Amino acid sequence: MSECIFCRIVKGEIPSRKVYEDDDMLAFHDINPVAPVHFMIIPKKHVDSLAHVTGEHVPVLGKMLAKAGALAREQGSPEGFRTIVNTGRIGRQDVYHLHIHVIGGTQPLPRMIAKE
Ligand code: 5GP
Ligand code: ZN
Repeated sequence: MSECIFCRIVKGEIPSRKVYEDDDMLAFHDINPVAPVHFMIIPKKHVDSLAHVTGEHVPVLGKMLAKAGALAREQGSPEGFRTIVNTGRIGRQDVYHLHIHVIGGTQPLPRMIAKE
């Protein structure tokens, strides 16, 4: 999956503003933030989406979620945040490398999603 843009970010072939990195996952700021705090947490090992997750991904998914709160606080979202995992065509996923959006700031976000 070398053409995958998030795999290329993992490899350092595309620059990103890193928030956190360890052996299994990477967090980096969204290039087009929708709120004062908006970064994504991704597994380093490619998986297309949440719909493609199997048992082998459970440990890394747990690590990603477990890290979200501390990273959100560090990045300036001290009283909570929103996590979004857009999945597939229905979920309007644009980049097919699983990612958890972490969105927040110091003011409450709009409620959930708007009706179209
Ligand atoms: P999705 O719609 O798949 O849930 O979200 C993909 C996100 O990736 C979008 O919010 C978009 O702004 C972000 N994005 C797309 N390309 C890049 C990139 O090259 N670098 C970074 N940092 N974010 C990107
Ligand atoms: Zn990838």
